[in-house]
Amino acid sequence: MKGTSSARVVRGKMPVQYLYTAGVAGERFFQTIKTKGVLMATTCRDCRITYLPPRVYCERCFADLSETWSQVPSTGRVHSYTVVHQDQDGQPVDAPQIVAFVRMDGTDGGLIGLVLHTSLQGVHLDMPVEAVLRPPRQRRGTLDDIEGFAPRQKPAPPRRKR
Ligand SMILES: [Zn+2]
Repeated sequence: MKGTSSARVVRGKMPVQYLYTAGVAGERFFQTIKTKGVLMATTCRDCRITYLPPRVYCERCFADLSETWSQVPSTGRVHSYTVVHQDQDGQPVDAPQIVAFVRMDGTDGGLIGLVLHTSLQGVHLDMPVEAVLRPPRQRRGTLDDIEGFAPRQKPAPPRRKR
């Protein structure tokens, strides 16, 4: 994608406490990560939207999506990111952390998480990444089960043109 190098740097505060779809969809989403280690999304075929995090109702047409669950890739691309110098309690962190919003492949949504194994200089917009899940025994069925996103080494399959 061209033009991504002209991204602006905005210094400021960004709340990093996000509430993911609580309730039925969120519960199933996190339980599937915990037990199977895969990401699931829901799709409204009429609106051609694949929701991640999954929704049980289409936000556009309110269709019931509870029978449309499917597995989606755990890969995506950095859509935006910020550098965090303080933890949730306002205490300085040992090393600045990179928090990114990652647009997930095969969906119209995305997830927020730490960018792992990458220096501040190494992260860039549109960077291909892959979700890193905690080892099965450490998963608790929460957002915390996604440890973060690591740079993807292997070339991704070519993206289809729309
Ligand atoms: Zn819809």
